[in-house]
Amino acid sequence: MKNEMNVKIRKRLEALRDEILKVIGWSETASGGGGAMDEIDQANELIEKEMGFLMSSNMINNLKEVEEALGRIDKKEYGKCQHCGAEIAAKRLDVLPFARFCVPCQENLESNNL
Ligand SMILES: [Zn+2]
Repeated sequence: MKNEMNVKIRKRLEALRDEILKVIGWSETASGGGGAMDEIDQANELIEKEMGFLMSSNMINNLKEVEEALGRIDKKEYGKCQHCGAEIAAKRLDVLPFARFCVPCQENLESNNL
């Protein structure tokens, strides 16, 4: 893969990481809120907390993926399938910049997990 391409991808991954950090920060401040409210508001608050938790745990996962992808750029392993070593299609990396596996391997892994 060309160096110029790596710079672009690194920028995209770093922007993604910033975005995730922002979202995680938001969910922390949102759950710290208090004050008087009626029962309906309390129920809504609970749902929001739940959603915030689900979102942030997912986000932390994504954050790990993004950081690993950045590490792979440094090791010049970015864009290669971690399973079979084949180049991951550029289209796939465009949709999922932190993809670790090529499409056939991803599908294999997913069907094995079921
Ligand atoms: Zn593969």
